Amino acid sequence: MIAGHQGCFEPLKSRDALARLGAVANAVAKRPDGIDGAAALSVAEDGLEGGEVGVHVGHDEGAGHLGSIANARSYNGGVTAGRSQEPGARSPVTPGSVAEIGEFGLIERLASVVGAGAPADLIVGIGDDAAAWRVGDQILLATTDTLVEEVHFLPEFSPWAEVGWKVLAVNVSDIAAMGGEPLFALVTLALPLESEISFADELYEGLMDCAREYGVTVAGGDIVRAPQISVTIALIGRAQMREGEPLLMRRDGARAGDVIAVTGTLGDSAAGLWRMRKGATGEDALVRAHLRPLPRLAEAQEAARAGVECAIDVSDGLLQDLGHVCEMSGLGAEIREESLPLSDDLRSAYPEDAVALACSGGEDYELIITSDEDTVERVGEEISAALTVIGRITDSTEHRPRLLDRAGNELPVAVHGWDHLHSR
Ligand SMILES: [Mg+2]
Repeated sequence: MIAGHQGCFEPLKSRDALARLGAVANAVAKRPDGIDGAAALSVAEDGLEGGEVGVHVGHDEGAGHLGSIANARSYNGGVTAGRSQEPGARSPVTPGSVAEIGEFGLIERLASVVGAGAPADLIVGIGDDAAAWRVGDQILLATTDTLVEEVHFLPEFSPWAEVGWKVLAVNVSDIAAMGGEPLFALVTLALPLESEISFADELYEGLMDCAREYGVTVAGGDIVRAPQISVTIALIGRAQMREGEPLLMRRDGARAGDVIAVTGTLGDSAAGLWRMRKGATGEDALVRAHLRPLPRLAEAQEAARAGVECAIDVSDGLLQDLGHVCEMSGLGAEIREESLPLSDDLRSAYPEDAVALACSGGEDYELIITSDEDTVERVGEEISAALTVIGRITDSTEHRPRLLDRAGNELPVAVHGWDHLHSR
């Protein structure tokens, strides 16, 4: 279900694919000392910069193991102030490593291994916010997401209850982006034996807060020993149905001429991470946006009922996530800079970087929808959250979003959203 390039790689046996993934797993699991505070995303507190550093997974000479993370940015390093490399510096990429192809290249590659032969019951496979599967007269949805210590959260800044909330919330956001209803979750906890019991108590306190808020039942899971803490949730949901047909919103459902709208405000979460690193706590509205995202479940369900057929949640950054819609729909998009919804908190905290944070910061967990003007207007009237029209889907053969200024000139904001594996 990945757009475009399926089959452009040589055939890969599943054993080989697993062996390659092993290097990633090793690298993450060993959490080597190589993790540092690198930067990326061409965004910095002191203005737009070209510092591009990502997670490098590969051979680490002298480290005593094959898989390691060298020059990895720590959690969402792209929008962190602390930089370990000069802007423009490139981290080394080991030839043949997953860092060479990045997260999305690896997904494409593995999707081609999984490939053909999916049964007709599988309605949406790899490449959307969640998979959709027909079971009788229902459509089940399934998604999974992991938060890893130091990669996705920094224990010294994030209270465990907030980590618990967030790991479920990001999964709820994916079910929401399909227009569905979350039902039950399986939770896998990986942890060192010396972890304090209170950590698990607090984690589950936040997780259950989120479960109650969004109507999720925790139905099971697994606990494993590991060198660092990670929490994985598999969330099962179902699509809303009307006259036997699912009301699904998909990434490939955009049409040329659709307006693009987004809920809430953008960039607050990334700004919150900056502030948190400087000592701000959950009292700060931006930090709260970062630690405790509020997935747009009711808004998304309303959009699906109103007839919206295309949506995605903002996890990696507006431009990157909208780029997935462009690729999957085979279309382009134009975003108007002046229409981006920016909070007053963001504007006053980071006036210079607000637009870049809104475009590339990520982790907003707002909802992007595309549809005809009337439908979008109707959705805006029905939901309690603000819904802002930010641009249009175009028939451009360049399947990517373009950010335009008032005069219609393209602004050079790099699309450097979060890619878990790419070494930029
Ligand atoms: Mg998503």
